[in-house]
Amino acid sequence: MMITLRNIKVWDTDEVIDLRLPADGADREIDATGLILAPGLEDPHVHFRDPGQTYKESMASGCAAAASGGYTHVLVMPNTVPAMDGATLADPSAPGASEVLDAGYDNVIDYLQHYGEAHGVDLPVRYDLCVAASKGREGHEASDPADWGRYVPGVGDESTWTDAMRAHPVTAMSDDGAAVPEAILDQVLANLKATGLYLIEHCEHHDTGAVNEGPVSRKLGVPGIPEDTELKIVARDIAKARETGVHIHFQHVSTAISFEAIRQAKAEGLPITCETAPHYLALSDEALLEYGTLAKMNPPLRSEADRQATIAAIADGTVDLLATDHAPHTLEEKALGFLEAPNGIIGLECAYGVCHKVLVDGGHISDRRLIELMAVEPARLMGHEPTDVAALVEAWSEPAPTGADGTREPGRNRMLDLTRAGDVDGVDLVVLDTARAWTVDPERFHSKARNTPFGGWQVTGMPLATVIGGKVAFSRL
Ligand SMILES: [Zn+2]
Ligand SMILES: [Zn+2]
Repeated sequence: MMITLRNIKVWDTDEVIDLRLPADGADREIDATGLILAPGLEDPHVHFRDPGQTYKESMASGCAAAASGGYTHVLVMPNTVPAMDGATLADPSAPGASEVLDAGYDNVIDYLQHYGEAHGVDLPVRYDLCVAASKGREGHEASDPADWGRYVPGVGDESTWTDAMRAHPVTAMSDDGAAVPEAILDQVLANLKATGLYLIEHCEHHDTGAVNEGPVSRKLGVPGIPEDTELKIVARDIAKARETGVHIHFQHVSTAISFEAIRQAKAEGLPITCETAPHYLALSDEALLEYGTLAKMNPPLRSEADRQATIAAIADGTVDLLATDHAPHTLEEKALGFLEAPNGIIGLECAYGVCHKVLVDGGHISDRRLIELMAVEPARLMGHEPTDVAALVEAWSEPAPTGADGTREPGRNRMLDLTRAGDVDGVDLVVLDTARAWTVDPERFHSKARNTPFGGWQVTGMPLATVIGGKVAFSRL
């Protein structure tokens, strides 16, 4: 069974081809004029809450959300319960520990690597793991390479690895949710240097405050977070990158002053990269007045000037990539008020549409650049090359149809036939409709969570099919 898309455009060469995908049901043919074939979207910043908080999200629901959002590969953050630090779980009564121990694994990394086996499920998207920088992610003591080094490619003895270990390696380190504390930073950097991992830094530290400090926080009567709380960590870590040569990736950068510091560090040639998230380019702290705690996050939504600076930093290349910081919470938790409600929103299932609306429809970047920001650059950060669509077309397409005299028939496309191609294991693709206008409806999300301020938003740009390993993992076709 197959589905044939006629006249789909390759995202970077603009060649118009026909694409054939394996599919359930009767053979179908679709006029795909105007659709784009691109490497699958990738997100190096997701929270899947598994183990420990699976009432918010699970590996299964999080991966389903990713596939429906056009994502083929994600990096799972370590603020699980227990935290993903590789340490053997000694206390079975500790929160979340029984989920790991009862499945037959003695630490969270092992459990998540073998999640499919443990639960008898086939998770639809690829995922890598991000180890905690501190033990228990508590910020007191650096996590121990003796606990997690064996899961790192090039460090562990890969000849003993299972297929699941190979498929879901530890490729980065973070204490996301909090910045790595000053007191352990040098030891963390030494651990990174010894193992070749890079640091993913949550560059925000404040002891008080719940929303951005300014007219909105005063209007709400909620304690504010000054804008330089982010720059303090960014500047500290830029100095550490200069000193140690360790690659530091800044998460969810949100202020003009941080972008300026990063711009200068990059000009200096330091090993610094950064991301921002859809909400920082689409919303300012004014959104708190409309969406309440659905607009509460950390770092907080900042001023309109910072939002404009975020877009400018995307347009001028200071921002390397877009990540969602997909952070599921229940609506009951979000209803606790500005002080008590947890930070964060989900993002995987509307990120492409929101970013496309603001950035491409807004005239700031091209469709091609948006795919670089959401697919190509995230893949490279995570240490692999995205699927080269044009090379696939070259290698696998049937010859362009020719007439009796050997010349190509005008108006006939080359056919990329994934039902007949050779080794498709590494083929990760997304079919995008860049013109499709749609209304975000959280009730239709595959995520367990509904905490998003974008419900009811009119956006443009929709992922129509997600292909992972040559197979259709999700389809709206
Ligand atoms: Zn964070
Ligand atoms: Zn995060």
